[in-house]
Amino acid sequence: MTLRPDVVVLGCGVTGLSTAIRLVEGGARVLIRTAAPPARTTSSLASALVGPNLSPPDDPQRAWTEETLRVLRDEPMPGVTLREGTLAARPAGATPPFAERTLGFRPLDDDERPTGFGTAFTVRLPLVDMPVYLAHLLQRFQGAGGEVREEPVGSLGEAAAVAPVVVNCTGLAARHLTDDAELHPVRGPRIVVRNPGIERFFMEAPMTPTWASIFPHGDHVVLGGAQRRSEDTTPDPAEEADIVARCARIEPALTDAEVIEHRVGLRPGRPVPRVAAERRGDALVVHNYGHAGSGVMLSWGCARDAAALALGGRTDRSAE
Ligand SMILES: Cc1cc2nc3c(=O)[nH]c(=O)nc-3n(C[C@H](O)[C@H](O)[C@H](O)COP(=O)(O)OP(=O)(O)OC[C@H]3O[C@@H](n4cnc5c(N)ncnc54)[C@H](O)[C@@H]3O)c2cc1C
Repeated sequence: MTLRPDVVVLGCGVTGLSTAIRLVEGGARVLIRTAAPPARTTSSLASALVGPNLSPPDDPQRAWTEETLRVLRDEPMPGVTLREGTLAARPAGATPPFAERTLGFRPLDDDERPTGFGTAFTVRLPLVDMPVYLAHLLQRFQGAGGEVREEPVGSLGEAAAVAPVVVNCTGLAARHLTDDAELHPVRGPRIVVRNPGIERFFMEAPMTPTWASIFPHGDHVVLGGAQRRSEDTTPDPAEEADIVARCARIEPALTDAEVIEHRVGLRPGRPVPRVAAERRGDALVVHNYGHAGSGVMLSWGCARDAAALALGGRTDRSAE
C-alpha cells in the first residue's frame, strides 16, 4: 500500500477479517496488522455452529447473530453449509423461548430423542468449516484491495501512528493493548475425527462445563466440548477420550473414529463483547473483541457496527 491507509485493523481472525471486508468494500484503504495468519488464530479452532438466536429481543447479541445469519444465507461462501441437526438438553421441557422461530424447527418425539435427553428438536443452521472459510475471507479482503502485514503492534499508540482510525480485533490479546480487566481466557479443545458417515449435527445445551457437540464437515467431524477459565493450551488425552466417549453415546459410529487433530484454543471470554469507539489523541480507536464462545456467530453483526463506528467517525457506544 503506497498511500497511507485510512484504517488499520489489528488482527485477522474472523472478527478482524469480517470487519476489514466491510471497511474495504465500503471504500476505505485498509491495512491489517496481525501477529499471526488466519490459520493460526483462535478463530481457526472454532467448530463452528452459527445460531440459534435465543437471546432476548433487546440484547445486541441477538441483532448481531441475525446479521450473521442473513449474510451467510444471502452470500454463499466456501466452508459454509446449511445443515439440519439436533439441539438437545437433559431436562424435559427445556425448549428455550423463540426456538420455534428458528429455521426448520421441529420438536423430536420420545422415540427420536437420544437417550438421557428430555428436550430435543431439529433445526437448520449454518455450519462453518473455519480453515476453509477464513482462507476465503482473506482472499476476499485482498481481492478488494486490502493489504495484510504479519507484524503485531506493541500498543494502540503505535497503531495510531499507522492510520487515523484503528480497529482493535485482537481477541484475547486485547488485554495486552487495553486495560480491560473483564477479558479472560476460556480454554477449549478442538477434537477432529475422520467422518464415519455422519451428516446431521448435534449440540447439547447448556455448554458448561462439558457437553457433547458433533459437527460434520464432509470428510471430518469436529467434536466438543469443554470450557474452563484457564491459560493452558496443552492437549489433554484424558479430555480427548472423555469428549469422544460422550459424543459416541449420541452417535455410536464415533466410537472407533480416528482422531486426526487435537488442538486447544483460548476463547476471548468477556461478559459481553466490546464493540465501542473512543478517541485516543487524534486517533479514533474502535474496539471489536471479547466474543467468548460466539465470535463466528456474532462476526458479521459486530463487523457491521464496528465498521459504521470507524467510517462514521462517531464515538457513541453500541455495546460495552
Ligand atoms: C474449541 C473452540 C470452539 C469454538 N466454537 C465456536 C462456535 O461453534 N461458534 C462460534 O461462534 N464461536 C466458537 N468459538 C469461539 C470463537 O473461536 C472466538 O469467539 C473467535 O475466534 C474470536 O475471534 P477473533 O477474531 O475476535 O479473535 P482471534 O481469532 O483470536 O484473532 C485475534 C487476531 O489478533 C491478532 N493479534 C494478537 N495480538 C496482536 C497485536 N499485538 N497486533 C496485531 N494483531 C494481533 C492475532 O494474531 C489474530 O490474528 C470456539 C472457540 C474454541 C476455542
